[in-house]
Amino acid sequence: MSEVIEQSAHAVKYTRNNPYLSTVTYNELLTAPGSEKETRHIELSLEEGMTYTPGDAVGIIPDNRPTAVEEVLSVLHFSGEERVLDHYKVEISLREALRTRLHIGKLARSSVNQMAKLAKENEGLKNMAGPDNKARAEDYCWGREFVDLAADFPEVVKEPQQLFQVLARLTPRMYSIASSQAMHPDNVQTTVRVVRYESHGKSRQGVASGELGDRAGVGTTLPIFLHSNANFRLPEDHSAPVIMIGPGTGIAPFRAFLEDRQAKGHPGQNWLFFGEQREKLDFLYRDQLLGMKKDGVLTHLDTAFSRDQRDKVYVQDRMRERAKEMFDWLERGAYFYVCGDATRMAKDVETALLDVIAKGSHGTPEHAVEYLAAMKKQKRYQRDVY
Ligand code: NAP
Repeated sequence: MSEVIEQSAHAVKYTRNNPYLSTVTYNELLTAPGSEKETRHIELSLEEGMTYTPGDAVGIIPDNRPTAVEEVLSVLHFSGEERVLDHYKVEISLREALRTRLHIGKLARSSVNQMAKLAKENEGLKNMAGPDNKARAEDYCWGREFVDLAADFPEVVKEPQQLFQVLARLTPRMYSIASSQAMHPDNVQTTVRVVRYESHGKSRQGVASGELGDRAGVGTTLPIFLHSNANFRLPEDHSAPVIMIGPGTGIAPFRAFLEDRQAKGHPGQNWLFFGEQREKLDFLYRDQLLGMKKDGVLTHLDTAFSRDQRDKVYVQDRMRERAKEMFDWLERGAYFYVCGDATRMAKDVETALLDVIAKGSHGTPEHAVEYLAAMKKQKRYQRDVY
């Protein structure tokens, strides 16, 4: 009994402010050499009693790259040994603050505004500060990091402590969980695309994804916590069919859904749409998904490899090709899920879904909108988009 209490206490104990120091137990590329993407599968250890449900996310608290930290120190002419007070008034070195407390990645307009406040009479900063100069500031921030601002306006930050005024707090990054604990009781797995790009003559990388790509080999430790997402859940009815649309890293929660249904032997039918650039290079979790298809866990697996032919083919094109059967599934009470890019994909998929409904029901576009609204009300249309 006391063990049970202790275990559930553990599960509650770890939060973004009190993370669990997890060990990386696996970190491998899912994409093949030659791919334009660098997408990785990562596995992180959990302490007994830490639990998650498919649909949840894992929060990873990143560190800034040591080279990026040294660059900032050098531009500001600080040694790094200076003492500062962190957000909780704990005294630490400036180097530690820049590594683990402050956001020195992608430049935010708030940092430009705060620098302008500190500088008072600097014309260049004044011209980018405040709501009237929003567009100019956004233009400046694009592709830049804090180090670029510090280099362009040296001598503004005079005291190390002022960096807590200029820079936002380094926050955790949330990644959709790609595993089911019914299959992997003591770890959590995720799918991460490493962001790397060139801008203003320098090579840059995402703060968290860069760390996961370069400095999180097996055996290293990372502060993590589990984050519940009650709005993205498999149906309570284990026999209900599910349709999952997950291009790119959007596959992550659906791998978790499928593993869960497989491990628990749930009878509901599963239909997955996956899309990426090239079948040979970017078919994430290929062997596992084909195995699930073979075993019947996946009733249908529809893929859209956008760059394997002259004209682009996307998941929504495959949906339209399968309109009749998809509408039959919806009529049988299927749950419809979308995960991945919010800016274009999720909107285009919703348009395709409305077309599928209108075509299948021989109804008007207005009727399709009502049909979808009813699905939403029944929690049969759920999205995890970013
Ligand atoms: P992705 O960019 O969504 O690409 C997956 C597939 O979707 C590709 O075949 C792509 O084709 C296709 N696609 C492009 N536009 C589409 C549309 N309108 N409708 C349907 N499919 C479309 O996959 P990802 O690289 O795994 O990225 C997923 C999401 O995560 C994106 O929103 C991305 O910006 C975001 N992301 C964020 C971070 C970060 O901030 N740390 C890191 C990684 C990814 P084409 O490319 O051939 O057009």
